[in-house]
Amino acid sequence: MNLELEIKLSTDFPAIYLSGEGLEGHGHNATHFHFECGDGWFALLYEFSSKIQKMIDEKKITKFAAQQVKEKYAELRYYASYEFKECEREGKEEEEAAIDKEFRSYLTIAEEASGKTCETCGLPGVLRTDSGWYSTACDVHWKPRATK
Ligand SMILES: [Zn+2]
Repeated sequence: MNLELEIKLSTDFPAIYLSGEGLEGHGHNATHFHFECGDGWFALLYEFSSKIQKMIDEKKITKFAAQQVKEKYAELRYYASYEFKECEREGKEEEEAAIDKEFRSYLTIAEEASGKTCETCGLPGVLRTDSGWYSTACDVHWKPRATK
């Protein structure tokens, strides 16, 4: 993703993208997170990040840290760590399960959106394959491997 968009996501959601430790290995640094996917997925990542920020604001989860965000087989892969808020002892498991479910539902929406969104431009796209090469692309941005 281009630097301007990476900085925009990182500075709008520092609790998600600038909170982790030991992230240098994936190309992150103190000013921005490195998103290993195309610019076309910026909007879906922004929407997902907004929902996670809300969960952090509501103190449902703490110590959230995105670890790696990348494209694999033409779909979004999002790796992150977080801890649950301190739940009351009684009903703790159910409360944690509900929080986990909420997080996973947002992630599923983002992953499904990535499978329908051109990774280059953000317009509607479809999953395409060619000789083991996978890409979610619109008609304009689909480049079969043979022509690359
Ligand atoms: Zn496109």
